[in-house]
Amino acid sequence: MSHALPQITAPLLLDDLIKRQDQYFQSGATRSYEFRRQQLQKLMQVAHLHERDILDALSKDLRKHETEAFLAEIGIVYAEISDALKHLKRWMKPRKVGSPLTVFPARSRIVPEPLGRSLIISPWNYPYQLTIAPVIGAIAAGNVAVIKPSELAPHTAVLLEKLINENFAPEYLRVLNGGVELSQELLSRRWDHIFFTGSTAVGKVIASAAAKHLTPCTLELGGKSPCLVTRKANLDVTARRIIFGKFLNAGQTCVAPDYVLVEDGVHDALIEALRREITLRFGTDPLRNEQLPRIINERHFQRLSRLIEPGKVNFGGRSDPGQLLIEPTLMTGVQIHDPVMQEEIFGPVLPIIPVKDLEEAKRFILGFEKPLALYLFSDDAAEHQDIIGSVSFGGGCINDTLMHLANPNLPFGGVGASGLGAYHGQFSFDAFSHKKAVLVNGTSMDLPVRYFPWIRSKEKVLRLLMK
Ligand code: NAD
Repeated sequence: MSHALPQITAPLLLDDLIKRQDQYFQSGATRSYEFRRQQLQKLMQVAHLHERDILDALSKDLRKHETEAFLAEIGIVYAEISDALKHLKRWMKPRKVGSPLTVFPARSRIVPEPLGRSLIISPWNYPYQLTIAPVIGAIAAGNVAVIKPSELAPHTAVLLEKLINENFAPEYLRVLNGGVELSQELLSRRWDHIFFTGSTAVGKVIASAAAKHLTPCTLELGGKSPCLVTRKANLDVTARRIIFGKFLNAGQTCVAPDYVLVEDGVHDALIEALRREITLRFGTDPLRNEQLPRIINERHFQRLSRLIEPGKVNFGGRSDPGQLLIEPTLMTGVQIHDPVMQEEIFGPVLPIIPVKDLEEAKRFILGFEKPLALYLFSDDAAEHQDIIGSVSFGGGCINDTLMHLANPNLPFGGVGASGLGAYHGQFSFDAFSHKKAVLVNGTSMDLPVRYFPWIRSKEKVLRLLMK
């Protein structure tokens, strides 16, 4: 399906913009609680005022239904801004910490300070939420930012440019639209923090560009997130929640279950339940269901089509190339060396792979890079403990999918190849802050033991203090 793409603006006078942002940040204008609060309130107003435009852009880019767009994009942004407004004062407060006798009579505290000039680069799959959520962290922590949305969701990218650039001063927040070239141009400059959401492959490009300037970065990446269903699972609820997590946004979700491992004994019953659930949610002809989101572009549609081996389709498998639609598809008989298991699927295709027991499942998962998410379906607390205690993953759920994202009290991020750092709620504030260590000593008292010349008795005292 071809779209008349709106004009994407080119980066103009990037160095001048960076200089202006630098001066603005150095002026201290972004640091006060009052300023940050006002900017968050303004962002909330802008988001509310343009809710209709955002829904339209998401519909044009991904055919997202309004309710889905609210649940997974707009609502998350509102909740994140509200959370920041509610807690900002506390987050900003210096935190007193204890001081050992060695530093007597000093007192110590941790003072959060803004990192400075941030670069935020975002992907196309949740193009509004994944751009604005980090911006909330940048504002809350007192940073200035340049923001580059994904060129592959152009309607949302152009709207974001309008929302931010018409409501905030360029020296504070600036959206620049463009593709890989602009991204590389931006990455060649020095930043105080880079916040990147996207693929693991591009994450490595970002990390190496950041390394040149020793710039700290937050990398929110992807990978193959497993879903594990044991004999102790409630299969009806399991099927409902797997289908929800897998087919939201047509599977184009970083934390979607990528594949399902199911214990022997419940394999057939699970597949039955999954098939029933797909029909219940999307009808008997999903390609005619107006609520089925589309694949972002021709390239990804072709890529996904190649992953669907007709001989291994258990359910679904049909597509509509004209509309870039692929129906919810279950695959069985999948081998580990099949194309569908060689890359992150990132689409509405779900392989279901039988395993003998939990041990085999763990070995299978550990054969891949550390995943962004893991979902375990089981009503047995010992199994929960076993998986949580032995498998590394960014975050996840027991008996659910995706919903760990909806709690701002939980950090959202990967580990190893699925990412570096985390955000949401206070973790967003932390991601854009430096924790400055401050020790305040008095001048009326001094322990002589730390001063030259070194004599035996001083060492004895030190040995008493430092053990
Ligand atoms: P992507 O890595 O291709 O692109 C992300 C951004 O990087 C875009 O703005 C793009 O312009 C830019 N970019 C692309 N190639 C570049 C290059 N060579 N140099 C510099 N910049 C470059 O990712 P995508 O296709 O937009 O998104 C899909 C991927 O993102 C999936 O792997 C998914 O799992 C991951 N993802 C992760 C999260 C998360 O929160 N962890 C969320 C959404 C998506």
